[in-house]
Amino acid sequence: MVSSADVVIIGGGIVGSSIAYQLTKAGCRNVLILERESHQGKGSTGKSMGGVRAQFSTDVSIRMSLFSIPFFRDFEAVMGHPSGYRPQGYLLVATNDRHMGYLRANYNRQVAAGLKTARIMKTEDIVAMVPQLRSDDIIGGTFCSTDGFVDPYSVMTGFTLRAVDQGATLQTDATVTGIVRDSNGVACVQSTQGSIATRTIVIAAGAWSGQVAKLAGLDLPVEPLRRMLVPTEPFDKISHGAPMTVDLSTGFHFRPEGLGILMAWADPQEKPSFNTNFDRSFVEKVLTLGVSRLPVLEEVAVNPSRAWAGLYEMTPDHHPILGPAPGMPGLFLASGFSGHGVMHSPATGKVLADLILKGTTDLIDARLLDYNRFAEGRMIDETAVF
Ligand SMILES: Cc1cc2nc3c(=O)[nH]c(=O)nc-3n(C[C@H](O)[C@H](O)[C@H](O)COP(=O)(O)OP(=O)(O)OC[C@H]3O[C@@H](n4cnc5c(N)ncnc54)[C@H](O)[C@@H]3O)c2cc1C
Repeated sequence: MVSSADVVIIGGGIVGSSIAYQLTKAGCRNVLILERESHQGKGSTGKSMGGVRAQFSTDVSIRMSLFSIPFFRDFEAVMGHPSGYRPQGYLLVATNDRHMGYLRANYNRQVAAGLKTARIMKTEDIVAMVPQLRSDDIIGGTFCSTDGFVDPYSVMTGFTLRAVDQGATLQTDATVTGIVRDSNGVACVQSTQGSIATRTIVIAAGAWSGQVAKLAGLDLPVEPLRRMLVPTEPFDKISHGAPMTVDLSTGFHFRPEGLGILMAWADPQEKPSFNTNFDRSFVEKVLTLGVSRLPVLEEVAVNPSRAWAGLYEMTPDHHPILGPAPGMPGLFLASGFSGHGVMHSPATGKVLADLILKGTTDLIDARLLDYNRFAEGRMIDETAVF
């Protein structure tokens, strides 16, 4: 393995790969990605539902999406590798005035930020779009036609291939075990494949970022939280062109996947842990919520052994922590995406490359997402977390 690098990125998921791509594209070629697994994608990236949307509740989240979604659209032309972007939209469905007011406020914020493809939906528009929904209590919703899904594994691979073409190195089977500092800041990364001298380190270790940050003596407020997904067997009673549909009354959501559909729900009983075992009792919970909104699911078949679990990487305000770590020159953070790391990976790569190489970025107001916001009481809560 190389013994020195200009930048060492810890974690070879979609976020680390995107940062490596943007750094090398900007001319910083001696970039090393350290990944502890034998191949990429074994963290959250390979477990993701692949949803991408601009329908968020804060300006900074919306801006991250306004950069990222066109990036996914143009990915294959620019990167020579497919992103799997399918602009089938996100349909958010409200059954009470509070939720509808919330969607309207978010819509206004999205439009003000420059989103042109979102719209307010009446109940009849919703029924026309997904006729299988039980609609007696639906009062309206919002839809954005450029939202949709990507193939996270393919995006990660595309970023990595181009980064390597541009000079980066990916080292697998390399668990980071230490971060050494000297009087000038970070100095060296220790790993199971040897030590690498470097003056710039990026922690992009997903749900494990808190553990990695501890190696540098930093307390990072990123907690792992299990999320489970249940695919159905082939099912043709819902259109394969349907949008990602979110029932705000319960949080149940689904999208077409392969010949069937993929169902999800954030179980409020879930407590922070690194548990990634799929709990078979979840099938009944998600199906009960699903059938109540989508009665046709009574007829669906599910094979629990095809379902899986992975980890969200939660922060207290559901925004990522991006940029320099305080008091540790050369240490940068890119984690805590709170379930949005796939959709925000293109913007994150650009923001981190800008901050590392230029100390500033014009993509977002990076101060909003810095580490110090927690201690300084500047948290801005993202509430559109599904
Ligand atoms: C069920 C589920 C559904 C999701 N749905 C969506 C969605 O619809 N849309 C969306 O945008 N996001 C979604 N997410 C979230 C998304 O998957 C993550 O935010 C994203 O993958 C984070 O990417 P990452 O590269 O930061 O982390 P990861 O993909 O987890 O990569 C981190 C890497 O760091 C490595 N690593 C950890 N510790 C070390 C170490 N000490 N040394 C070296 N390497 C190390 C790991 O092996 C891993 O490969 C979902 C997540 C789950 C679990």
